[in-house]
Amino acid sequence: EGICRDKAVLVTGAASGIGRATVLALAREGARVIAADRSAAGAAAVAEAVRAAGGEAIDVVADVAREDDVAAMVETAVRRFGRLDGAVNNAGIGGAETGSAGKRTAEIPRAAWDRIIAVNLTGVWLGMTHEIAAMQATGGAIVNVASVGGVVGLPTAAAYTASKHGVVGLTKAAAIEYGAAAIRINAVCPGYIETPLIQASLERRRGHLEQRTPLGRLGTAEEIAELVVWLCSDRAAYVTGAAYTIDGGYTAA
Ligand code: NAD
Repeated sequence: EGICRDKAVLVTGAASGIGRATVLALAREGARVIAADRSAAGAAAVAEAVRAAGGEAIDVVADVAREDDVAAMVETAVRRFGRLDGAVNNAGIGGAETGSAGKRTAEIPRAAWDRIIAVNLTGVWLGMTHEIAAMQATGGAIVNVASVGGVVGLPTAAAYTASKHGVVGLTKAAAIEYGAAAIRINAVCPGYIETPLIQASLERRRGHLEQRTPLGRLGTAEEIAELVVWLCSDRAAYVTGAAYTIDGGYTAA
């Protein structure tokens, strides 16, 4: 049953928010899921939730900014399921975690800039490098989770904005390169979604963001997972090199 029946799909940042919702949605659509996160307990919990619902999932601990972790993560997936049909490069961080929230470009601490780029951009590239190698003979689908910050500028989040624009560019270049190998590579660009990532800033800005969003509310992780799962499935067979905004109209306004 389901549009991802029997596909082996890897999800990074699987312990929380959009990643967690994506793991659960993929499993509901019949996928066998590799749930990867830097949080061992979080990855184990979501894999357990899938199994409790009758699905198939394993958990892997990996920091996407570390190449040895990423290599081992993809290797584990292929060893367990014999192949890799899909990969969702979702792990990401923002200013709150790095102490750069609210800072303008010239005020960003070097360490914060470096960490945001390392996780959000280099982490996606490292993931793709190993995922593409695993998909070379079979084809597959890669979905990179960017942001509306990959489409428009987000003030006081320049490092985040730069990293997400980078993810969109990387997605497009790689899609051209690997089309002939039947590897589809797409990005999703969510607007403001209710997850722990933006909790701190929501305390101040929720009203403003709701007002600025044509649909009048923030999005849910489940709503983003819908699009990600579709892009992983054969329903999206002719889609590659695309970057879909999914933002309640935020960037249209
Ligand atoms: P979240 O904080 O709820 O979840 C992120 C998960 O990624 C956590 O489980 C965390 O442990 C994991 N993670 C962080 N760094 C990691 C690393 N180096 N290696 C492995 N795992 C790591 O956040 P979320 O809102 O679900 O964000 C998921 C993705 O969606 C991110 O790329 C984020 O930039 C993007 N996004 C979020 C929003 C939003 O409004 N929440 C909007 C646009 C894009």
